[in-house]
Amino acid sequence: MALFDAPPYRGPKSDHFDGRRFFNPAPEVHHASGGDLLKWMLSRKRGPWRRVHAEPGPPPPRRVEGDALRVTLVGHATLLVQMDGLNLLTDPVWAPRVSPVGFAGPKRFRPPGVRFEDLPPIDLVLLSHNHYDHCCLPTLRRLAAAHDAPPIVTGLGNAALLEKHGIPGAVELDWWEDTRVGEARVVGVEMQHFSGRGPRDRDRTLWLGLVVEHPRAGRVLFCGDTGYGPHFERIRERVGVPRLALIPIGAYRPRWFMKWVHVDPDEAVRAHLDLGAMTSVGMHYGTFALADDGMDEPIADLETARATHAVHPDAFRLLAHGVGEDIP
Ligand code: ZN
Ligand code: ZN
Repeated sequence: MALFDAPPYRGPKSDHFDGRRFFNPAPEVHHASGGDLLKWMLSRKRGPWRRVHAEPGPPPPRRVEGDALRVTLVGHATLLVQMDGLNLLTDPVWAPRVSPVGFAGPKRFRPPGVRFEDLPPIDLVLLSHNHYDHCCLPTLRRLAAAHDAPPIVTGLGNAALLEKHGIPGAVELDWWEDTRVGEARVVGVEMQHFSGRGPRDRDRTLWLGLVVEHPRAGRVLFCGDTGYGPHFERIRERVGVPRLALIPIGAYRPRWFMKWVHVDPDEAVRAHLDLGAMTSVGMHYGTFALADDGMDEPIADLETARATHAVHPDAFRLLAHGVGEDIP
């Protein structure tokens, strides 16, 4: 096992695990090769990004009550979701860079929208997969220490990596498996993506989306990273229509390379429609420059996509970083 590789999952084969690697069942999904990566690296045409020096937003409320559902965009795939008796964070990242080492790799173009010290008590962490822009070990360690080691619900195989780094509380789910956290049910759902942290651990642990079903606040879907596919309709059929879907809209150019693993804003709007989500919130843009789309391109392309599909800006909305919004 090379230095940065995550420990591999070991378990029985399934329709998306061949005994060694996980895979998406759709046969047409193209798995990028080393040659594809090289081709992209040599032909990159990056859109512009700029440093944003914004003050963090106001401290979020400690708790919300009744059927309230409040969402705050911290940045990238990190969101604070608040329901009665349940504060959760998705793919929490407060680090200045998302890479295996502290001195290189994608760095932040804006500070986190919420100060770590201003977080309300965190009862649950949703961890979609082990890529560095989603699975930040220093942040997870800090959360465990400051918030009494909240449960971390994640995909098969990720507990070993967390345990190796002294982070307790991981609960592993396969797609369509569920677990209970307090009053809520958390369900793992299929997404079209991949995993890996080092040169030789590609697809050795599971990637997934997570649905939280709360008795009063309803159903919230966190997609993590995903390409477009029939799985959005499957989630609607098997788990149900979300009150709120958190859907990625950034890191999608060039399409020939990214389309299998990252939706573009048009596909994000189609996913919102496939899911039948009452409200969707865009994420995974504006903080880390991971692909060739410029900093503002996802926002402009989302506007076009909403117009194309006649989706109201309140139905698929973007949040100001650090400013909480109550979801209808
Ligand atoms: Zn990813
Ligand atoms: Zn990502």
